[in-house]
Amino acid sequence: MKRALVTGGQSGIGAACIERFKAEGIETISLDLHKDADLAVDVSDSAAVSKAIAAAGPIDILVNCAGVVGPTTPLWEIEAADWDKTFAVNVRGTFNTCHAVIPGMIERKWGRIVNISSVAGKEGNPNLSAYSASKAAVLGLTKSLGKELAQKGVVVNAITPGVIATPMNKDTSEQLLEYMISRIPMGRTGTAVEVAALIYWLSSDQCTFSTGSVFDISGGRTTY
Ligand code: NAP
Repeated sequence: MKRALVTGGQSGIGAACIERFKAEGIETISLDLHKDADLAVDVSDSAAVSKAIAAAGPIDILVNCAGVVGPTTPLWEIEAADWDKTFAVNVRGTFNTCHAVIPGMIERKWGRIVNISSVAGKEGNPNLSAYSASKAAVLGLTKSLGKELAQKGVVVNAITPGVIATPMNKDTSEQLLEYMISRIPMGRTGTAVEVAALIYWLSSDQCTFSTGSVFDISGGRTTY
C-alpha cells in the first residue's frame, strides 16, 4: 500500500485530497497547524518538519497544500515581516517537506510530488504580490526539482487552481468574488473535489511521462 503525506490536510483542497486518497486505498497522513492533524506541525519550521516526517516513516506521495494568502494590500504598504511569513509557509514549507521525503523516494526508486501553486503565480493578482510571487516560486522549484529527479523514478508536478470554493475564500467580498468569476470562462468557481481528482492522477502510477510540469485547473482562465 502506498503512503501519502498531505500538508494543509485539515481543510479545503488538502482535506478533499485526503478523502480521495483514502477512498483509493492510499494510507494518508495529514500535516497541518491544526491540533487534530496526524502531524500537528508548522510547515515553515524546518527542524520540526524534518523530525515529524522522519518519525512518520516512508512517504511515497507528497502533496504540498498548506498555504496562506498573506497581505492583501498594494506592495508598498506590505510590512517586510508579512512578506517573509508568506514565503516561509508557501515556499520554505514546500522546500522543507520535499527536503525531508525525497531521499527515501530516491532510495525506493518511486515517488510522486504535487505542489499546489495558483493562477496568481502565472498572472500576478493586484494587491496579492507576496502570494503571487510565492506561488511563482513554487513553479520554479517544481521545474528544477522535476529535472533533478527525472531519472530516479520520482515525478514532481505543480497545479495552478483558479478560484476554488474553500475556507481560504470565506472572507472574500461578494463583489470581488463576482469579479473573479466573471474572469472564468466556465462562469463558476471550482470545487475541492475537482482539484483532488487532478492531484490523485498526478500522484498515481498513471502519471509516468510528466515531470516539472504545470497543470491548469481554472475553468479555462489560465490555459497556458
Ligand atoms: P485552506 O482551506 O485555507 O487550507 C489550507 C490549510 O493549510 C489549512 O488547514 C491551514 O491551517 C493550513 N496551513 C496554513 N499555514 C500552515 C502552516 N504554516 N503549517 C501547516 N499548515 C498550515 O486553503 P485551500 O483553499 O484548501 O488552499 C490549499 C492550497 O491551494 C494553498 O496552497 C492555496 O494557496 C492553494 N490555492 C487555493 C485556491 C483557492 O481558491 N482556494 C486557489 C489557488 C491555489 P489553518 O486553517 O489553521 O491556517
